[in-house]
Amino acid sequence: MTHYEKYKNTIKEGVKKARRKRDIWINEYLADKSCVHCGESETCALVFYPDNQEIRIVSRSKGLREKLREPILEKIRTNKVVCMNCRSKIENDIELSPIF
Ligand SMILES: [Zn+2]
Repeated sequence: MTHYEKYKNTIKEGVKKARRKRDIWINEYLADKSCVHCGESETCALVFYPDNQEIRIVSRSKGLREKLREPILEKIRTNKVVCMNCRSKIENDIELSPIF
């Protein structure tokens, strides 16, 4: 590994950490959830479907007080929790049957 590559990875790690902090309550919400299709329970592999991006953007822009979270939670309730694998299958229109 060159010096530059090492440096680049350090920056990437820093960005990841900052992102994790902002996502912390979303991840706490997902901590006891699992993919509705395959049962994957690894929190970092879980996403909301179909509004994952919107939910995460809004959750980052709002504070953490209960009242501010309520509209996000409402949105979350209309979404399914799936893993990234199943999401790409859904997006590619591959037939999936729910096991839970
Ligand atoms: Zn899955």
